[in-house]
Amino acid sequence: MGAFFLAAEFHTNYSGTAFKVERVLYQEKSDYQDILVFETKDHGKVLMLGGAVMLTERDEFCYHEMLVHPVAQVVENLKKVLVIGGGDGGTVKRLLAYSDEIEKIDVVEIDDKVVEVCKRFFPELASSFNDRRVNIVAQDGMNYIATTSEKYDLIICDTTDPVGPAEVLYSRTFYEAIKKALNEGGIAVSQSESPFYHAETLGDLWHNAIKPVFSNAKLYLAFVPTYCNGLWSFAVMSESIDVEAAPLKRREKLTDCRYYNEEVHRAAFKLPEFVKKIVKDMPVYY
Ligand code: SAM
Repeated sequence: MGAFFLAAEFHTNYSGTAFKVERVLYQEKSDYQDILVFETKDHGKVLMLGGAVMLTERDEFCYHEMLVHPVAQVVENLKKVLVIGGGDGGTVKRLLAYSDEIEKIDVVEIDDKVVEVCKRFFPELASSFNDRRVNIVAQDGMNYIATTSEKYDLIICDTTDPVGPAEVLYSRTFYEAIKKALNEGGIAVSQSESPFYHAETLGDLWHNAIKPVFSNAKLYLAFVPTYCNGLWSFAVMSESIDVEAAPLKRREKLTDCRYYNEEVHRAAFKLPEFVKKIVKDMPVYY
């Protein structure tokens, strides 16, 4: 086998996930992060930001379906949605399955370069931004949520890891502002990292930012192959709805799902013992 390039994400300083690069399609440093798009045999096109996998064409459905449908299926009203981050369009694409109810989706993405690059290389996701309900705000999500007077039925935090521009989005201040921006009966959900490789990050987010603010918060899991070897967590918060047990209200919208269904919804909240331990007690830092 001749020489070839590898693109790798390190989950710790010592191990990670590697991709054999067929072709680099885009590489640039924006005002916020390194942006890399490359072609692979196994996963189609891949987007990496700051050396972390954001999406691959092959498995993005796992993450985006499991970020959106568990909350969109059970929330009472689904008129106004806020997405913080989400610059690749995968979250908005899944939200538009509910476009007969949704009146407005505000997407607060700090880096407009990510939107531009994803419109170019991932149009099957980012073309969702062209929908008339979608309003893209190029702003820091912390700054937006702390200053907006808007109220939302659903708030989805689809951001990068807690380093660099996203670090502020893992704070108690951020979640206090999220709570203020939710309508009565509203729900918030955040991607909350790998419970296997990032137990202390998840524990810190859970015990120091989310649980002190939301009495009714739950963690659920999904398999996202290219995210830290697959096990990924999501934190869901509401003052009035038990997302795990609440009845699905919009089943007819699930025709295109390749991951989500009602059984998966219920099962996603069943946690392995080591994850239960993280949400029960703050993990000991290694
Ligand atoms: N699914 C991915 C994950 O779980 O890591 C997230 C994908 S999405 C591309 C992440 C987006 O969050 C990036 O486009 C990044 O620019 C954006 N972001 C990071 N920090 C932000 C902040 N403070 N405010 C708004 N957007 C932010």
